[in-house]
Amino acid sequence: EAAEAGLVVRDLAAGYGPVTALRGVSLEVPRGSVVAVLGGNGAGKSTLLRAVSGTLRFHRGGIAAGEVSFGGRRLSGADPSAVVACGVVQVPEGRRIFARMTVAENLRAGALGARGARGRRAAAEARDRVLTLFPVLAERARQRAGLLSGGEQQMLAIGRALMARPVMLLLDEPTLGLAPMAAARIADTVREINAQGTTVLLVEQNAAMALSLARHAYVLEVGEVALSGPAAELAASDEVRRRYLGIG
Ligand code: ATP
Repeated sequence: EAAEAGLVVRDLAAGYGPVTALRGVSLEVPRGSVVAVLGGNGAGKSTLLRAVSGTLRFHRGGIAAGEVSFGGRRLSGADPSAVVACGVVQVPEGRRIFARMTVAENLRAGALGARGARGRRAAAEARDRVLTLFPVLAERARQRAGLLSGGEQQMLAIGRALMARPVMLLLDEPTLGLAPMAAARIADTVREINAQGTTVLLVEQNAAMALSLARHAYVLEVGEVALSGPAAELAASDEVRRRYLGIG
């Protein structure tokens, strides 16, 4: 049963020294689903993803209370590399691609632990999957990543994460700063990646997009879960429409 549990966050409190960014946050991302976390600037969305991926301490933060687990395995307190080894891979906000490296080099950098014949075969399969999802990355394989458009850089960031063959992807505002067409293209690929079996935790300020992708959603407000429910119900709620969708 625990192995089917997917991601479970229970009573999480986290912050940065004296700054409390999350308190009493509980949420679940069942295996195979897309779950969205919505909220405005400073609501704690990035802190939540950092707490899951084990990168909080690189931002001088830490977990004060609560627990994070995936498939019944404890992630809270684990190193980022141990979290990746559990199959949970983060696509960081702001994309963080290696701008001066080529597209192909960026993808290779994501193929962690691809040693030996089996590792190389697995990496080649992962690269085929990425290039099928994003043919433009094959066309631009030898170009410097910094020369890609914003939407293409986001594709590369997602592609690099897929090279680690994740069971679950943590996506931090993948459509931030993109034109509507590019954002829609990213939304389509998130749908496709999920249809291929990858579980997704999606953090977004773009509530309309996130609710169209997710099965279930949580709204964070100043570090706490203010609302949660099936995405379709949240999308229909007057409060969500008024406060997060700018409707009504
Ligand atoms: P945004 O969309 O602006 O990134 P967010 O919902 O992701 O917002 P967080 O970045 O998690 O929010 O920030 C939550 C709170 O923690 C905010 O009050 C923020 O100022 C604070 N915070 C974030 N990072 C740090 C840090 N490295 N040091 C101190 N405080 C931080």
